[in-house]
Amino acid sequence: MEIEIATIGGYEEVGRQMTAVRAGDDVVVFDMGLNLSKVLIHDNVETERMHSLDLIDMGAIPDDRVMSDIEGDVQAIVPTHGHLDHIGAISKLAHRYDAPVVATPFTIELVRQQIEGENKFNVGNDLVKMSAGETMSIGDQVEMEFVNVTHSIIDAINPVVHTPEGAVVYGLDKRMDHTPVIGDPIDMKRFREIGREGNGVLAYIEDCTNAGRKGRTPSESVARRHLKDVMTSVEDYDGGIVATTFSSHIARVTSLVEFAKDIGRQPVLLGRSMEKYSGTAERLGFVDFPGDVGMYGHRKSVDRTFKRIMNEGKEKYLPIVTGHQGEPRAMLTRMGRGETPYELDEGDKVIFSARVIPEPTNEGQRYQSEKLLGMQGARIYDDIHVSGHLREEGHYEMLDALEPEHVIPAHQDMKGFAPYVDLAASKGYQLGRDLHVTRNGNMIQLVD
Ligand SMILES: [Zn+2]
Repeated sequence: MEIEIATIGGYEEVGRQMTAVRAGDDVVVFDMGLNLSKVLIHDNVETERMHSLDLIDMGAIPDDRVMSDIEGDVQAIVPTHGHLDHIGAISKLAHRYDAPVVATPFTIELVRQQIEGENKFNVGNDLVKMSAGETMSIGDQVEMEFVNVTHSIIDAINPVVHTPEGAVVYGLDKRMDHTPVIGDPIDMKRFREIGREGNGVLAYIEDCTNAGRKGRTPSESVARRHLKDVMTSVEDYDGGIVATTFSSHIARVTSLVEFAKDIGRQPVLLGRSMEKYSGTAERLGFVDFPGDVGMYGHRKSVDRTFKRIMNEGKEKYLPIVTGHQGEPRAMLTRMGRGETPYELDEGDKVIFSARVIPEPTNEGQRYQSEKLLGMQGARIYDDIHVSGHLREEGHYEMLDALEPEHVIPAHQDMKGFAPYVDLAASKGYQLGRDLHVTRNGNMIQLVD
């Protein structure tokens, strides 16, 4: 059976991920992501109304025109998890394929909400839920399986396409977490089995984000302990404490809610995306927040909540807000600019349970936000975070578990691939033979 891989997006950048695997006449598409920084750099761009081709020209979504060179039918569009760089282009591209979107329940719900907000295209693809550990048939001879992985968003999986020539494992995005705060540990046992059963692993496509960092990525439980230490240390402070984190990071938001209660404060979730992700996770039963935890997304209800906090006393509350990267329109940035009814005083605490995404725009915006908060007297606690991506030893363990015949680094630019290429070379892989460094829009023929 012919096996071919099209590396469509996310091979020259982090963002706009998209890869297609053809096995005989059947094609599976993994991820259709959005590179948000390419959108935000322009003022007042509303992607909801934009045409795909304009977004492709901006470099914001994958240029999927290469798909017309693939001789086969797309049977499924499979986003691995709900981050925007993996699902953000589904509302712009999926309608061009006569195939369902297949993903885990939390991811499917985020895809559904995204399609609902789309104003330009009518996206009618079926939305099919499939959980980790389950399989589905792709054509006559191919099966797709979801293996449970751990990442900075719940319900993440790595899809595996089982072909007569061996398995193709799509390895974006994960860390090796054996004690995640929510959900099951990464299923390393299954990865080891897949490496040894049948014809083994034909190809492994891997997320190289942290390949250049030594050692292993700590578990979410480490970030949780760090956060508990910080919050306990300010337990006796009788002024304002404000926290921010990735709103899609449900495990972290849950820890913040819990520790707020522990130090005698009422947690309240503020900001549009805070309300969206936490509300969705709660509706689907992934978390069970205490009944009195408020979630407010619209600016008016947020400002009303801030007024209530100022009236009743800042020492009674822990606002958990958007704005960990200093995004200009996010809640914490507005607080820094003095645009909300919440007034910061000398000595008030601001907890960043997030790391600055190392990118000039983010770094500049975050710097500005911290300075503005500091000018009002706020004390900053930053970097209370662990990454969602494997470091060097995690990558080593994955190669050891899967023993893939071919390796394809992804989810980075050329510079980002380099440390992974070194690691794979040390395991005996050779560039151009079985280690395929590629670019957006290329095809790799593995079996002809
Ligand atoms: Zn991700």
